[in-house]
Amino acid sequence: MKLHNFSAGPCILPREVITKASEALLDFDNGLSLLEISHRSKPFVDVMDKASALALELLGLEGKGYKALFLQGGASTQFLMVALNLLEKRAGYLNTGTWADKAIKEARMYGDVYEVGSSKKEHFNYIPKGYDIPSDYDYFHCTSNNTIFGTQMKSFPKTDIPMVCDMSSDIFSRSLDFSQFDLIYAGAQKNMGPAGTTLVVIKEDILGKVSRKIPSMMDYKIHIDKSSMFNTPPVFAVYTSMLTLEWLKNLGGIKAIEKVNEMKARIMYSEIDLNPLFKGYSAKEDRSNMNATFTLINDDLKETFETMCQEAGIRGLNGHRSVGGYRASMYNALSIDSVKALVEVMSELESQA
Ligand code: PLP
Repeated sequence: MKLHNFSAGPCILPREVITKASEALLDFDNGLSLLEISHRSKPFVDVMDKASALALELLGLEGKGYKALFLQGGASTQFLMVALNLLEKRAGYLNTGTWADKAIKEARMYGDVYEVGSSKKEHFNYIPKGYDIPSDYDYFHCTSNNTIFGTQMKSFPKTDIPMVCDMSSDIFSRSLDFSQFDLIYAGAQKNMGPAGTTLVVIKEDILGKVSRKIPSMMDYKIHIDKSSMFNTPPVFAVYTSMLTLEWLKNLGGIKAIEKVNEMKARIMYSEIDLNPLFKGYSAKEDRSNMNATFTLINDDLKETFETMCQEAGIRGLNGHRSVGGYRASMYNALSIDSVKALVEVMSELESQA
């Protein structure tokens, strides 16, 4: 039976990427596994260079003063690394969900952090708008897609201070002017590769402005100078990310996948809106094209719906424990056919009810 994986993560990848990555585990370089060769050997250095170059190319940032790094510690480590490297006195954060909230908590250990906007009171079901970002802040931090609540920033504020964005759950999924950001980070495990590496794309000229001493592993400058090889890199996660970025490039890049993602979201949300048994969670104008959150209006139908999903090969639809209901995550690797399979079950439920 064909399975349709709507899980929010970790690791939703094209099948061909998983096949190629698994082959490299057995034989990557003349009979040696990717896991056995030295990370300083030419075959692996080539992988790291290619992954970094592809990331910049796909984002349209080559030759614009940016470096792409593949680090460890997940996006959660970036919550503190950003502050350690950029926060001298004050920073502004947009609080749009659990992950933004956690980023704020970490940054507060290193300076004054102000929430320039927050949707916390409404349980993060919309993206705040019309907020001010004072020009004397060291930087502004936002989260482009809120994985748990299913909201997505459709536009970004104009500001002269450095803009930092956590793009963990929608990087490489839609075209944006990525040069409006000075630092982008994303855990690999949604649109790029297995958990274990985090992409950090950083404009070099924002560094070197804080007075504190930064531990080496936390210092972007050190990772830039060592081309992401200050310590042993997560070779499998970086290699698999490189394969996914190649896959995306061959598909036609972000513009091509964006069209597919828009179509998937349109199909999904029109069913949520037209089917009287379901209700969307987040404000319509802020709905995420990656994570659609919704509930069943009548709890009595829960068991029937979930059995029908199971029988249709639909997996990973459970909502996050803090929101409940359902969450259909539609990352780059999920096909339109999978969305159609889910929508068919939803409309079948309506005709039976
Ligand atoms: N930021 C966002 C938007 C996320 O969705 C997640 C995890 O799902 C994180 C940060 C945390 O990432 P990690 O588990 O890599 O630390």
